[in-house]
Amino acid sequence: MKSQNILNQVDLSQTYKEKTNDILDIQYDQSFKPHYGKNFMFRFYNGQPQITIGPHWPLSVCTIISIIVGTYFISAIIYIKSGIWHSSGSVLSGLILEICYLRVFLKNPGINFTSTYVAKTQKSCQQCNLEKEYGTYHCYQCNICVKGYDHHCPWVGKCIGEGNIKEFQMFLISILIFFSCNLFLIMI
Ligand SMILES: [Zn+2]
Ligand SMILES: [Zn+2]
Repeated sequence: MKSQNILNQVDLSQTYKEKTNDILDIQYDQSFKPHYGKNFMFRFYNGQPQITIGPHWPLSVCTIISIIVGTYFISAIIYIKSGIWHSSGSVLSGLILEICYLRVFLKNPGINFTSTYVAKTQKSCQQCNLEKEYGTYHCYQCNICVKGYDHHCPWVGKCIGEGNIKEFQMFLISILIFFSCNLFLIMI
């Protein structure tokens, strides 16, 4: 009985050792290299990019130019029709729309490099070598994993995820504000 207990203890300690070794192997996995996919990343803070620009940035440049031209064209019509005060309201709503767009365009959608230690787990993404948490999805257009993935938006040239979903919703609201505000300014 006693020897059985000792055997069990040996077994347990061996299992513990194996487990510890596994953890150590994972923690000291030096082969990990950050995978940037097709994104451009800037302003790293604690190893995380704060600014990312997606692969479809040429389309985003066209979008922002169209937004600027479109909003100022509407403001010009309001200026001709109703004068400077009405057109300043229009310019202001246009500026809000442009700022909201730029915030979505620049903010990191949820690309992170913190899970570098778990590269060997079953859950990891083979392309990114990262652990896939719940809600993380590998975007094949950006070729990178995005936390809290919502969708890939070609108009902002990147993914919409946990990191920029609020900014995206703000952008949609700003479109609504712009059109209702300008319709009101044209009608009065
Ligand atoms: Zn991935
Ligand atoms: Zn994407």
